[in-house]
Amino acid sequence: MSKNTRMTKQRKAILNILKNTDIHPTADWIYDQVKEEIPNISLGTVYRNLNVLEEMGEIMVLDYGSSYSRYDGNPENHYHFKCENCGQVFDIEHSVIEDLNKRVNENTPFKVNTHRLEFYGLCPECQRKQ
Ligand code: ZN
Ligand code: MN
Repeated sequence: MSKNTRMTKQRKAILNILKNTDIHPTADWIYDQVKEEIPNISLGTVYRNLNVLEEMGEIMVLDYGSSYSRYDGNPENHYHFKCENCGQVFDIEHSVIEDLNKRVNENTPFKVNTHRLEFYGLCPECQRKQ
């Protein structure tokens, strides 16, 4: 590993926070958590470390266009559901979705390497409130 991709104390703390939550938090939320452990850390440092962790393949960044990016401590390819009402992001069971790459390979002239897929709608809590 190069000097830039060392697991610094700050980077390790941020990664730990992400590995121990399933809420797909924003950088601001992560910043609030990591401050309890490293009080003098800045939001800029948190962003910088999140970028490095993504480059290292340790985390996943979920880009929702105009709203804030969300961060995921699980870097394996998996799917998400975003509630359009409350904004919460949930994991979708991988097994719910058949092997999409294989199906496209078999049914189109294309050779697929990867794909992106996102679900939007109402979470159970928001459905109840309606
Ligand atoms: Zn909701
Ligand atoms: Mn996830």
